[in-house]
Amino acid sequence: KDDSKSLFGELFETPRRRVVPVLVPMPAPTAYSYAVPDGLTIEPGAIVQVPLGPRQVIGVVWDGANETSVDPKKLREITKVFDCPPLDQDMRTFLDWVAAYTLSPPGYVARMALRAPAAFDPEPMIEGLRYAGYQPERLTPARQKVLEMASDGLSWTKSGLAHASGVSASVIDGLVKQGVFEQVFLPPPPLVAAPDPDYAESRLAGPQKEAAEEILDSLRKGGFAVSLIDGVTGSGKTEVYFEAIAETLKQGKQVLILLPEIALTANFLERFQDRFGSKPGEWHSDLATRTREKVWRQVATGEIRVVAGARSALFLPFENLGLIIVDEEHDPAFKQEDRVFYNARDMAVVRARIANFPVVLVSATPSVESQVNCIAGRYTRIHLPTRFADAAMPDLHLIDMRRAPPERGGFLSPILLRSVGKAVERGEQALLFLNRRGYAPLTLCRVCGHRFQCPQCSSWLVEHRFRGQIQCHQCGYHEPTPNSCPECGTLDHLVACGPGVERIAEEVEKHFPDARTLVLSSDIGGVKRLRLELEAIANGEADIVIGTQLVAKGHNFPLMTLVGIIDADIGLSNGDPRAAERTFQLLSQVTGRAGRTGRKSLGLLQTFQPQHPVMQAIISGDASAFYEREITERERAQLPPFGRLVSIIVSADTRADAEGHARGLRQAAPHESGIMILGPAEAPLALIRGRHRFRLLVHGRRNSDMQAFVRSMLERGPKERRSIQVQVDVDPQSF
Ligand code: ADP
Ligand code: ZN
Repeated sequence: KDDSKSLFGELFETPRRRVVPVLVPMPAPTAYSYAVPDGLTIEPGAIVQVPLGPRQVIGVVWDGANETSVDPKKLREITKVFDCPPLDQDMRTFLDWVAAYTLSPPGYVARMALRAPAAFDPEPMIEGLRYAGYQPERLTPARQKVLEMASDGLSWTKSGLAHASGVSASVIDGLVKQGVFEQVFLPPPPLVAAPDPDYAESRLAGPQKEAAEEILDSLRKGGFAVSLIDGVTGSGKTEVYFEAIAETLKQGKQVLILLPEIALTANFLERFQDRFGSKPGEWHSDLATRTREKVWRQVATGEIRVVAGARSALFLPFENLGLIIVDEEHDPAFKQEDRVFYNARDMAVVRARIANFPVVLVSATPSVESQVNCIAGRYTRIHLPTRFADAAMPDLHLIDMRRAPPERGGFLSPILLRSVGKAVERGEQALLFLNRRGYAPLTLCRVCGHRFQCPQCSSWLVEHRFRGQIQCHQCGYHEPTPNSCPECGTLDHLVACGPGVERIAEEVEKHFPDARTLVLSSDIGGVKRLRLELEAIANGEADIVIGTQLVAKGHNFPLMTLVGIIDADIGLSNGDPRAAERTFQLLSQVTGRAGRTGRKSLGLLQTFQPQHPVMQAIISGDASAFYEREITERERAQLPPFGRLVSIIVSADTRADAEGHARGLRQAAPHESGIMILGPAEAPLALIRGRHRFRLLVHGRRNSDMQAFVRSMLERGPKERRSIQVQVDVDPQSF
């Protein structure tokens, strides 16, 4: 029967048009079907342009049987196939996996891999000139100079040749007109030269050698494996993974290094260059669009061998990726909380498993998740217990703020002030760390108690005295700092509560009027300014640095011998079960800025809770006891990674809509043993940009199919209306 049908079709119907699924950057649950124009061959992964409504959009040809009910004749055609490498099978599997895991529309995930529109066409060739071997009609001295320069027969750009010969471009134009030079086309230059694995000798010492050997073994064996390099700041973790990079390069494969603050770590790029003779390709959101497009294309063609990038680099279409390094793997910056909610560390492991190559996670304070994976034998832990060359760790002490309070109106304990003074006297640097931008986190009226709150968010307005503004750190709302209370009208009775970095700077300047102080926070401006300031600190151009976490990450400040933490308790009180872990990681990292070059160094932590396990862990230097407790605690409460969580945030223009929709979702949830729903309750930030937010927390066992549960809940629940938005966050950062 089937045979006759196909025979019939061949004989009597017009040839069937081919139909392929194309993922377009839309929140649709599946790919759309498009017809392939006659005479075109299209394979899965090809990047194409297709009509979508009135627009043309970029999409990617996807896999899978095409179950379209639409008559192929009515389908719209693919308008263009770009001349660029298609996304390979592993990449497509990866993107599908991420979409399914994060419960995101596949089109949105695919879009993360396609964020460089102009990269899909080949880069234009560069116009150049080459000496054709003829003499010009009249040989002027200027022409003579040009001929001497170009007589070797190499290709030049016009401006390059004019510049090198010291003549004006019109001289060259004249020679071209006479046919003395012929026009040629040069391939565009690569962005970065290929790194050379043997450029500098490997220089590992002691335990670093064993650590590297272990990783190299797994690299030579090939295949998927996860290693965790766990070693104190300055133990040589970077040196060790450089060897893994060298080995991968020798195998002819590409390498991806994920770093949480790549835009700010110029220092890292230089170190890489010292070892491999050239810089890696950079990838982060501060790159110029043209550069991003070039990087994208050259990663896809294999010209760029190593990329150092922010989390989004994980979605670059490598030609032949063979290793991913995730440095500072515990860092919350690896989590994207926008559109597609994903953790780049976890997804790096997934990408490596799909394409069957190793991953190396690196941290001085590994996440509880990674530690548990080591204990369970899923990851291999590689330990570097001491700083390189016996450089001492800073001497760490707690300052009990109940016993050594600051003077009235101040925030710095006398002990801390004395130590700052001594460091400055010795010509060394001090860092005062406070993770709070601006002057004061809260302003209130002393007469009526009015607090200045953002009109669109449930957050206080933060005073920024340098700018003369009060600002909302959620939505960016700002107004000039008022001098009267809008509630009771009283003039000049407003009071700033609590410290921000600007206020600490004021106090420091009062005590050390002759010292060079520098405030470093994201208020300074763009990445360029920040990079310059960080360089200035490294060059010793400041005595006292007051900074937010921007100064905490990965930098090497040779003169820094004192780190003072203004408020070590700051992250502990927000009720989040991950707060202790996060605080421990941040404090370790900040104090680790001190004494990186062997000078004797000191870390002082101001706290009101000196007995808190986090404080005790920090000063005892015994991370393992702290982590053991954390892990036991998490296991007892069945919190991640022992249990699983999905957070669902419903936002709407009114409180009632948000709460109502969240309730509706809860009622629609299927019954599943081992999975329960908490809430709805007001989300931790109950109002952002005028949108009211309610949260449902879905809690399950380690082996629960959370995605199936949540998917069914969303399908059966109330339909999303225009004004209502539902955000799903699998494995949320805070819970
Ligand atoms: P980590 O990544 O653990 O913080 P690094 O790899 O940055 O440690 O090493 C800390 C410092 O010690 C760096 O300045 C590095 O150049 C130096 N260093 C580490 N190992 C060696 C080594 N084997 N030989 C020479 N210098 C080293
Ligand atoms: Zn706001």
